[in-house]
Amino acid sequence: MSESKGKIIIDAERCKGCGLCITACPKKCIRLSDQTDLRGIRLAILTDNQDCNACTLCAIICPDVAIEVYKKIVGQNGKKGKSNKR
Ligand code: SF4
Ligand code: SF4
Repeated sequence: MSESKGKIIIDAERCKGCGLCITACPKKCIRLSDQTDLRGIRLAILTDNQDCNACTLCAIICPDVAIEVYKKIVGQNGKKGKSNKR
């Protein structure tokens, strides 16, 4: 049996801080930054939670296509598989 581990990358230039991805993430992996950027926007950033399972809900809901999701398959023997960009 294999397990999915995920990782996301948020494009700071595309993010407008709407927070939809935070609502969508079942693993609480995303939050808004405490700081504003040069546009006065609090960007979506990663939390300390490492439980991302690459479900892609955050990327699907983001209206600005600011999130890329990468999926890594970890096999039963613990070996790491391929990483797929979604
Ligand atoms: S849904 Fe997209 S635009 Fe909105 S906060 Fe998340 S990454 Fe930023
Ligand atoms: S891929 Fe799923 S678990 Fe990972 S950050 Fe996005 S919504 Fe959360």
